[in-house]
This record gives sequence, C-alpha cells and structure tokens, in this order.
Amino acid sequence: MLQQIYPQVPHSYQYELNKDMQIAAAHYIPTASAGKCRQVHGHTYFINVTVAGNELDESGFLVNFQVLKKLLHDKFDHTVLNDHKEVFSDEDSNHFPTTEVVARKMWEAIEHHLQTLPNSPTCLQIFVRETPTSYCIYRPKRDCSKNE
Ligand SMILES: [Zn+2]
Repeated sequence: MLQQIYPQVPHSYQYELNKDMQIAAAHYIPTASAGKCRQVHGHTYFINVTVAGNELDESGFLVNFQVLKKLLHDKFDHTVLNDHKEVFSDEDSNHFPTTEVVARKMWEAIEHHLQTLPNSPTCLQIFVRETPTSYCIYRPKRDCSKNE
C-alpha cells in the first residue's frame, strides 16, 4: 500500500482516523468536453478517508476500519462506476463519475453511515487520487453548530 502524507484538515477533535484504500475501477465521462475520457477506461484509485470525533464506541473504535472498506472498496472495486445508477448518472453532470464527484459521493456514503453511530464521528475529508499526477479532495462545508 502506498505510504503517503495527505493534506491535513484543521480541526480540534480529539481523535482522527485515516483509512487508505486502492480501488480498481472503470468509468467514462459522458460529455463531449471530456475528450478521450468519453471512452470507457480504468484507474487504480487511491482513496484516503479522514474521520474524526471526540467519543469512541463500546469497542473502543471511532469507526470500524472494516466498515469503511466495505462501504467503498467492496462496493466499487472491479466495477464500472457508471453502472452504479443509484450513485452516478449519464445524464446529469452533477452526478458524472469525475474525480470531484467520486470524492463527493464517497463522502456522502461514509457520512451517511457515521450519522447512524451513537458516538457521532464525522468525515472531514475524502482524498481521491485518480492518476499519479491528478487527485481531488472533497471536504464538506463547515457546520458551525458542531464542536470542531
Ligand atoms: Zn478517467
């Protein structure tokens, strides 16, 4: 696994957990401006998930690493991203599987799960590296009502 330092998110949570994943997946961007990326092609995505919080659960976890892997790797590895019609769309550009949208959708999947946990962790950042020279980061807008 790639050992890498990722861009840090300033916060004041007591615990911060990071999970790395590699996901081999294909996609295409269904728009003329995408050029050759309109053709189905593959990437090995390097994903880094940053979760933070102040409380641990009854197992001493902020969030179970295996659950994070299940939500992203088990769902998308060796698939065509565009085939996940409940996540991505070929009609609406806000849901094309670009690096930006992949990062946002992954954040939504993780955060949706975290909100079900009694210890209330939150996902601060999703880092998605699509190629050796290109990556994107998604961070949610800050909610000032939370204790950060
Ligand atoms: Zn691509």
